[in-house]
Amino acid sequence: MANSSQRIVIVGAGAAGLMAAGRAAHLLHRAHSPAEVVVLERMRQPGRKIRISGKGRCNLTNTLPVREFIERFGRTGRFLHQAFDRFFTPELLELLHGIGVPTSEERGGRIYPTSGSAPEVAEKLTAWATSQGARIVTGARVRGIDRDQGVSGVHFDRFEQHGKAGSGGERGNESMAAEAVLLGTGGRSYPATGSTGDGYDLAAALGHTIVPPRAALVPLRATGAPPPGVKKAHLRNVEITLRIDGKVRDCRFGEMDFTATGLDGPVILKISRMAVEALEKGRRVEVALDLKPALDAAKLDARLIRDLEDRKIATWDDLLGGLLPRLLMAPVRELIGVPGRKPSHQVSGVERRALRDLLKAWRFPVTGRGSFDEAIVTAGGVHTREVDPRTLESRCVPGLYIMGELLDVDGDTGGFNLMAAFSTGWLAGEAAAEKLLAPGEV
Ligand SMILES: Cc1cc2nc3c(=O)[nH]c(=O)nc-3n(C[C@H](O)[C@H](O)[C@H](O)COP(=O)(O)OP(=O)(O)OC[C@H]3O[C@@H](n4cnc5c(N)ncnc54)[C@H](O)[C@@H]3O)c2cc1C
Repeated sequence: MANSSQRIVIVGAGAAGLMAAGRAAHLLHRAHSPAEVVVLERMRQPGRKIRISGKGRCNLTNTLPVREFIERFGRTGRFLHQAFDRFFTPELLELLHGIGVPTSEERGGRIYPTSGSAPEVAEKLTAWATSQGARIVTGARVRGIDRDQGVSGVHFDRFEQHGKAGSGGERGNESMAAEAVLLGTGGRSYPATGSTGDGYDLAAALGHTIVPPRAALVPLRATGAPPPGVKKAHLRNVEITLRIDGKVRDCRFGEMDFTATGLDGPVILKISRMAVEALEKGRRVEVALDLKPALDAAKLDARLIRDLEDRKIATWDDLLGGLLPRLLMAPVRELIGVPGRKPSHQVSGVERRALRDLLKAWRFPVTGRGSFDEAIVTAGGVHTREVDPRTLESRCVPGLYIMGELLDVDGDTGGFNLMAAFSTGWLAGEAAAEKLLAPGEV
């Protein structure tokens, strides 16, 4: 039976931490347990990453059935089976609707709050966790987890609320006893939101193996990108092909961006996990951009011949203007080496075919990837074989639970990562509360 001095401490008020807090507090309260749930969050505000997710709109989850959903996590996705069995998209949507966050489905099965407001999701989840009885302490950065047989507590730096969390303004080191500690510190990406990778050190200090963290869902650096003279360009309805050592490994249709530092946008992020893994193994990685995916090479060639014969098309530039976004005309002119004023009737077959080939497969050898500052998610993390997938309890230290992006589990864009964080948070909160309560109390 839980007693008044008992406590569940949750480290991090992100997607996983807030879910765990609400679920654990609900179960303890329902069982009339005096034990408390405390969330320690290093930032001044909970849910900073939720607030910026989905470009400020928060892609909460996806309508894919569970088997296909899990496939979107690759190699380690199977670990999520039990968590999704317990709490998946229907349960998430029911909870959200119940706390005043109606949702809508968009293209690709992506689910967003109908309000289109990610900050609202963070606020409503925080209010829900608190309403269930959880206490959220902000400006508290956990520095270590204490143990005897199992976990016994945490110590943390407490920052003044007006001070800058994570740096100066400390009030000093404090400690808090706990029967269970749930680590939901996230990965290492977008560190300005608070996820600087502390969880890796905290878990490693307790004997956990950390699969080296890597930036995933990240922009790519590539030779020739952006094309000369282009600062940034947004392209719609394009197809990109990922080749590794010359072999086609992935192909995606949609939107992409040239940015000042390389390639970005939805289709690039989608292939980035595989591209980064291959780069790290020293393989040759290339992205080919197809600007005319609706036409095969023969049809495109026929169209170019027709256009060149059209009397309204007097010059090479007139031809390019009908095929390309204005921003890309100059670099294409330069790459093919045909001046814009060249009369269309003087364009040679070699020049026409060079244009066709460039439009169908503009090649960018990939040389690197963006940093953690730009990565949507971190691959790597606490090794899943050291965590019980039925409860998310550590197999190294009883009473320690690992959840969210801190685990070596990462998925595609499309709502998969948030769902994994919500689901593992829910399960960990539930399992920790159940362990605290004597059998029959739940
Ligand atoms: C720009 C961006 C957009 C995204 N958009 C989407 C999207 O639309 N859909 C989707 O599914 N996924 C999206 N993701 C990914 C998704 O947001 C994350 O996978 C998810 O938030 C991870 O949840 P988490 O709870 O594990 O970690 P986080 O949300 O990162 O939360 C971790 C929390 O722990 C706190 N913390 C860290 N260390 C300590 C410490 N020592 N002591 C106390 N507190 C600590 C942090 O301050 C933070 O609040 C996006 C990510 C980014 C960066």
